Amino acid sequence: MGHNVSNGKRLTAVMGSHLADFAGWTLVIRCPRCRETTELRVQDLLVAHGARQVSEVVMRLRCSRPRCGFRPDQVALRNRLHNVILVGPGAYG
Ligand SMILES: [Zn+2]
Repeated sequence: MGHNVSNGKRLTAVMGSHLADFAGWTLVIRCPRCRETTELRVQDLLVAHGARQVSEVVMRLRCSRPRCGFRPDQVALRNRLHNVILVGPGAYG
């Protein structure tokens, strides 16, 4: 994705939206301890978290690997057309 001067505004809008608005998107999270990237389908999170704001869901994300549970240092929401960095380098561009 290229540089976009409206990233900050877009990030605020996405963080304040409900997770249910992103059905069909994928959450891409990276664990700093495992150094692994995991993809979570938003569709799979909607029953439990669909009414939460994206910012709340992001705060609750933890690495799912056994005996890890670290908070991710990089989180993005993406679909076929967009990649919105929520946490990590590029999130505040
Ligand atoms: Zn981990």
